[in-house]
Amino acid sequence: MIDAPPSLTFTLSPIGVIESDYPDKFGIPRQPGLASAARASLVLLPPFDDALAVRGLEDFSHLWLTFVFHLSPDQADSRRWTPLVRPPRLGGNARVGVFASRSTHRPNRLGLSLVELVEVDTRCGVRLILRGADLVSGTPVLDIKPYLPWAESRPEARAGFAPQAPPRLAVAFSAAATAILADRPDGDSLGELIQQVLAQDPRPAYRRGAEARTYGVRLRDVDVRFRIQDDDAGEVRVQVVEIVPA
Ligand code: SAH
Repeated sequence: MIDAPPSLTFTLSPIGVIESDYPDKFGIPRQPGLASAARASLVLLPPFDDALAVRGLEDFSHLWLTFVFHLSPDQADSRRWTPLVRPPRLGGNARVGVFASRSTHRPNRLGLSLVELVEVDTRCGVRLILRGADLVSGTPVLDIKPYLPWAESRPEARAGFAPQAPPRLAVAFSAAATAILADRPDGDSLGELIQQVLAQDPRPAYRRGAEARTYGVRLRDVDVRFRIQDDDAGEVRVQVVEIVPA
Protein backbone atom coordinates (compact mmCIF):
# COMPACT_ATOMS: atom_id res chain seq x y z
CA MET A 1 0.00 0.00 0.00
CA ILE A 2 1.24 3.46 -0.82
CA ASP A 3 0.81 6.11 1.85
CA ALA A 4 0.37 9.68 0.76
CA PRO A 5 3.02 11.78 2.44
CA PRO A 6 1.20 13.57 5.26
CA SER A 7 2.90 16.85 4.42
CA LEU A 8 1.80 16.84 0.79
CA THR A 9 -0.27 20.01 0.70
CA PHE A 10 -0.62 22.60 -2.03
CA THR A 11 -0.85 26.33 -2.06
CA LEU A 12 -2.86 27.65 -5.00
CA SER A 13 -3.29 31.27 -6.00
CA PRO A 14 -6.28 32.45 -8.01
CA ILE A 15 -5.49 33.43 -11.59
CA GLY A 16 -8.66 35.52 -11.75
CA VAL A 17 -11.93 36.55 -10.16
CA ILE A 18 -15.52 36.27 -11.40
CA GLU A 19 -17.84 39.26 -11.76
CA SER A 20 -21.35 37.96 -12.37
CA ASP A 21 -25.08 38.66 -12.37
CA TYR A 22 -25.25 36.70 -9.09
CA PRO A 23 -24.33 38.80 -6.05
CA ASP A 24 -25.55 35.97 -3.76
CA LYS A 25 -25.30 32.18 -3.64
CA PHE A 26 -29.06 31.79 -3.18
CA GLY A 27 -30.90 31.34 -6.47
CA ILE A 28 -27.93 30.46 -8.66
CA PRO A 29 -28.84 27.48 -10.87
CA ARG A 30 -27.19 24.28 -9.71
CA GLN A 31 -25.20 23.74 -12.88
CA PRO A 32 -23.87 25.97 -15.67
CA GLY A 33 -25.92 26.44 -18.85
CA LEU A 34 -29.30 26.31 -17.08
CA ALA A 35 -29.58 30.12 -17.23
CA SER A 36 -28.02 31.09 -20.53
CA ALA A 37 -28.94 34.76 -19.98
CA ALA A 38 -26.55 34.94 -17.00
CA ARG A 39 -23.61 37.20 -17.81
CA ALA A 40 -20.24 36.91 -16.16
CA SER A 41 -16.69 38.06 -16.70
CA LEU A 42 -13.52 36.37 -15.59
CA VAL A 43 -11.03 39.13 -14.84
CA LEU A 44 -7.46 37.83 -14.74
CA LEU A 45 -5.22 38.98 -11.90
CA PRO A 46 -1.57 40.02 -12.21
CA PRO A 47 0.75 38.40 -13.27
CA PHE A 48 -1.74 36.24 -15.24
CA ASP A 49 -3.46 39.22 -16.90
CA ASP A 50 -1.11 38.93 -19.87
CA ALA A 51 -2.70 38.80 -23.33
CA LEU A 52 -0.11 36.18 -24.30
CA ALA A 53 -1.54 33.76 -21.74
CA VAL A 54 -4.90 33.65 -23.56
CA ARG A 55 -3.63 33.70 -27.14
CA GLY A 56 -5.74 31.26 -29.19
CA LEU A 57 -8.45 30.96 -26.54
CA GLU A 58 -10.89 33.05 -28.63
CA ASP A 59 -11.15 30.14 -31.08
CA PHE A 60 -12.85 27.97 -28.44
CA SER A 61 -16.56 28.35 -27.71
CA HIS A 62 -16.54 26.71 -24.26
CA LEU A 63 -14.14 26.58 -21.31
CA TRP A 64 -13.69 24.55 -18.17
CA LEU A 65 -13.14 26.68 -15.10
CA THR A 66 -11.73 25.26 -11.90
CA PHE A 67 -12.51 27.48 -8.95
CA VAL A 68 -12.85 27.58 -5.18
CA PHE A 69 -16.27 27.52 -3.47
CA HIS A 70 -14.99 30.36 -1.35
CA LEU A 71 -18.38 30.90 0.32
CA SER A 72 -18.60 27.28 1.48
CA PRO A 73 -17.19 26.30 4.87
CA ASP A 74 -13.47 25.49 4.92
CA GLN A 75 -11.75 22.71 6.88
CA ALA A 76 -11.52 24.84 10.02
CA ASP A 77 -15.29 25.37 10.06
CA SER A 78 -17.59 23.06 12.04
CA ARG A 79 -19.95 23.01 9.02
CA ARG A 80 -17.18 21.64 6.81
CA TRP A 81 -17.65 18.66 4.49
CA THR A 82 -19.24 15.38 5.57
CA PRO A 83 -19.02 11.99 3.76
CA LEU A 84 -22.76 11.99 2.97
CA VAL A 85 -24.65 14.89 1.41
CA ARG A 86 -28.30 15.49 0.49
CA PRO A 87 -28.50 16.58 -3.16
CA PRO A 88 -31.40 18.96 -3.87
CA ARG A 89 -32.24 16.71 -6.84
CA LEU A 90 -33.24 13.96 -4.40
CA GLY A 91 -35.60 16.29 -2.58
CA GLY A 92 -33.16 17.02 0.22
CA ASN A 93 -33.84 13.71 2.01
CA ALA A 94 -31.86 10.91 0.40
CA ARG A 95 -28.12 10.94 0.93
CA VAL A 96 -25.24 10.07 -1.39
CA GLY A 97 -21.49 10.20 -0.97
CA VAL A 98 -19.93 13.63 -1.29
CA PHE A 99 -17.78 12.29 -4.15
CA ALA A 100 -20.95 11.07 -5.91
CA SER A 101 -22.26 14.64 -5.87
CA ARG A 102 -21.56 18.16 -7.09
CA SER A 103 -22.01 19.48 -3.55
CA THR A 104 -20.37 22.79 -2.68
CA HIS A 105 -19.49 21.36 0.77
CA ARG A 106 -16.55 19.15 -0.17
CA PRO A 107 -12.92 18.58 0.75
CA ASN A 108 -10.72 21.22 -0.88
CA ARG A 109 -13.84 23.19 -1.95
CA LEU A 110 -12.95 22.77 -5.63
CA GLY A 111 -15.59 23.58 -8.24
CA LEU A 112 -15.72 22.75 -11.94
CA SER A 113 -17.94 24.53 -14.48
CA LEU A 114 -18.26 24.35 -18.24
CA VAL A 115 -19.07 27.86 -19.49
CA GLU A 116 -19.59 29.54 -22.85
CA LEU A 117 -16.89 31.97 -23.97
CA VAL A 118 -18.40 34.98 -25.74
CA GLU A 119 -15.38 37.24 -26.10
CA VAL A 120 -11.77 37.69 -25.05
CA ASP A 121 -11.11 41.33 -24.20
CA THR A 122 -7.41 42.23 -23.88
CA ARG A 123 -7.74 46.02 -24.14
CA CYS A 124 -6.97 46.53 -20.47
CA GLY A 125 -5.52 43.43 -18.82
CA VAL A 126 -7.54 40.33 -19.70
CA ARG A 127 -11.30 39.95 -19.32
CA LEU A 128 -13.12 36.85 -20.57
CA ILE A 129 -16.79 37.51 -21.28
CA LEU A 130 -18.80 34.39 -20.35
CA ARG A 131 -22.36 33.15 -20.60
CA GLY A 132 -24.31 30.66 -18.51
CA ALA A 133 -21.92 30.46 -15.54
CA ASP A 134 -23.23 29.18 -12.18
CA LEU A 135 -20.79 31.29 -10.15
CA VAL A 136 -21.33 33.91 -7.49
CA SER A 137 -19.62 37.26 -8.01
CA GLY A 138 -16.21 37.23 -6.34
CA THR A 139 -15.50 33.53 -6.97
CA PRO A 140 -11.73 32.93 -7.20
CA VAL A 141 -10.77 30.97 -10.31
CA LEU A 142 -7.76 28.66 -10.23
CA ASP A 143 -7.47 27.57 -13.85
CA ILE A 144 -8.96 27.77 -17.35
CA LYS A 145 -8.91 24.99 -19.93
CA PRO A 146 -10.50 24.91 -23.38
CA TYR A 147 -13.31 22.36 -23.78
CA LEU A 148 -12.66 19.57 -26.29
CA PRO A 149 -16.01 18.15 -27.45
CA TRP A 150 -14.51 15.11 -29.18
CA ALA A 151 -12.93 13.98 -25.92
CA GLU A 152 -15.32 15.36 -23.33
CA SER A 153 -18.85 15.18 -24.72
CA ARG A 154 -20.33 11.77 -23.82
CA PRO A 155 -24.08 11.84 -24.50
CA GLU A 156 -24.30 8.09 -23.78
CA ALA A 157 -23.01 8.54 -20.24
CA ARG A 158 -25.02 7.36 -17.21
CA ALA A 159 -25.74 10.19 -14.80
CA GLY A 160 -26.84 8.47 -11.60
CA PHE A 161 -29.43 10.35 -9.57
CA ALA A 162 -29.39 13.30 -12.04
CA PRO A 163 -30.12 11.61 -15.39
CA GLN A 164 -31.70 14.70 -16.99
CA ALA A 165 -31.80 18.46 -16.61
CA PRO A 166 -34.14 19.41 -13.77
CA PRO A 167 -37.78 20.21 -14.71
CA ARG A 168 -38.61 23.89 -15.32
CA LEU A 169 -41.50 25.70 -13.70
CA ALA A 170 -43.65 28.23 -15.56
CA VAL A 171 -42.90 31.82 -14.49
CA ALA A 172 -45.39 34.71 -14.60
CA PHE A 173 -44.65 38.40 -13.94
CA SER A 174 -46.94 40.79 -12.07
CA ALA A 175 -47.91 44.08 -13.77
CA ALA A 176 -45.61 45.94 -11.33
CA ALA A 177 -42.64 43.71 -12.18
CA THR A 178 -43.31 44.06 -15.92
CA ALA A 179 -43.38 47.87 -15.57
CA ILE A 180 -40.00 47.88 -13.76
CA LEU A 181 -38.44 45.78 -16.53
CA ALA A 182 -39.90 48.03 -19.24
CA ASP A 183 -38.12 51.01 -17.64
CA ARG A 184 -34.65 49.47 -17.66
CA PRO A 185 -32.20 49.50 -20.59
CA ASP A 186 -31.34 45.87 -19.72
CA GLY A 187 -35.00 44.99 -19.13
CA ASP A 188 -35.16 42.27 -21.80
CA SER A 189 -32.08 40.40 -20.66
CA LEU A 190 -32.92 40.85 -16.97
CA GLY A 191 -36.42 39.51 -17.61
CA GLU A 192 -34.96 36.52 -19.40
CA LEU A 193 -32.50 35.92 -16.55
CA ILE A 194 -35.27 36.12 -13.92
CA GLN A 195 -37.40 33.70 -15.93
CA GLN A 196 -34.56 31.18 -16.34
CA VAL A 197 -33.44 31.39 -12.70
CA LEU A 198 -36.92 31.10 -11.17
CA ALA A 199 -37.89 28.27 -13.56
CA GLN A 200 -35.24 26.24 -11.72
CA ASP A 201 -37.22 26.57 -8.47
CA PRO A 202 -34.48 27.98 -6.25
CA ARG A 203 -36.32 27.20 -3.01
CA PRO A 204 -34.33 25.05 -0.63
CA ALA A 205 -35.59 21.47 -0.96
CA TYR A 206 -36.54 21.14 2.69
CA ARG A 207 -38.79 24.23 2.52
CA ARG A 208 -40.94 23.00 -0.34
CA GLY A 209 -44.55 22.88 0.64
CA ALA A 210 -44.50 26.05 2.75
CA GLU A 211 -46.18 28.04 0.00
CA ALA A 212 -47.49 31.15 1.70
CA ARG A 213 -44.14 32.85 1.90
CA THR A 214 -42.42 35.28 -0.41
CA TYR A 215 -38.82 34.54 -1.35
CA GLY A 216 -36.17 36.93 -2.64
CA VAL A 217 -33.39 36.29 -5.13
CA ARG A 218 -30.73 38.91 -5.91
CA LEU A 219 -29.88 39.27 -9.60
CA ARG A 220 -27.70 42.10 -10.93
CA ASP A 221 -28.67 45.15 -8.84
CA VAL A 222 -32.18 44.05 -7.92
CA ASP A 223 -34.02 41.88 -5.43
CA VAL A 224 -36.64 39.74 -7.16
CA ARG A 225 -39.53 38.79 -4.85
CA PHE A 226 -41.48 35.72 -5.86
CA ARG A 227 -44.05 33.23 -4.66
CA ILE A 228 -44.81 29.66 -5.56
CA GLN A 229 -48.39 28.89 -6.51
CA ASP A 230 -50.13 25.58 -6.92
CA ASP A 231 -52.96 25.93 -9.41
CA ASP A 232 -56.12 23.79 -9.34
CA ALA A 233 -54.61 21.24 -11.72
CA GLY A 234 -51.72 20.73 -9.28
CA GLU A 235 -49.35 22.64 -11.60
CA VAL A 236 -46.65 24.54 -9.70
CA ARG A 237 -45.95 28.04 -11.03
CA VAL A 238 -43.71 30.89 -10.00
CA GLN A 239 -45.22 34.36 -9.64
CA VAL A 240 -42.80 37.30 -9.73
CA VAL A 241 -44.41 39.68 -7.25
CA GLU A 242 -42.04 42.65 -7.41
CA ILE A 243 -38.61 43.78 -8.45
CA VAL A 244 -36.95 46.23 -6.06
CA PRO A 245 -33.47 47.78 -5.85
CA ALA A 246 -31.17 45.49 -3.83
N1 SAH B 1 -20.67 23.47 -11.65
C1 SAH B 1 -20.04 23.53 -10.34
C2 SAH B 1 -20.97 24.07 -9.26
C3 SAH B 1 -22.13 23.19 -8.92
S1 SAH B 1 -22.91 23.66 -7.45
C4 SAH B 1 -19.51 22.14 -9.97
O1 SAH B 1 -20.13 21.15 -10.33
O2 SAH B 1 -18.48 22.08 -9.30
C5 SAH B 1 -23.67 25.14 -8.02
C6 SAH B 1 -23.95 26.02 -6.83
O3 SAH B 1 -22.73 26.55 -6.36
C7 SAH B 1 -24.78 27.23 -7.17
O4 SAH B 1 -26.14 26.93 -6.99
C8 SAH B 1 -24.29 28.29 -6.19
O5 SAH B 1 -25.20 28.50 -5.16
C9 SAH B 1 -23.00 27.70 -5.60
N2 SAH B 1 -21.85 28.58 -5.73
C10 SAH B 1 -21.45 29.26 -6.83
N3 SAH B 1 -20.31 29.94 -6.58
C11 SAH B 1 -19.97 29.66 -5.27
C12 SAH B 1 -18.89 30.05 -4.43
N4 SAH B 1 -17.93 30.85 -4.87
N5 SAH B 1 -18.86 29.56 -3.16
C13 SAH B 1 -19.84 28.73 -2.72
N6 SAH B 1 -20.89 28.33 -3.47
C14 SAH B 1 -20.96 28.80 -4.74
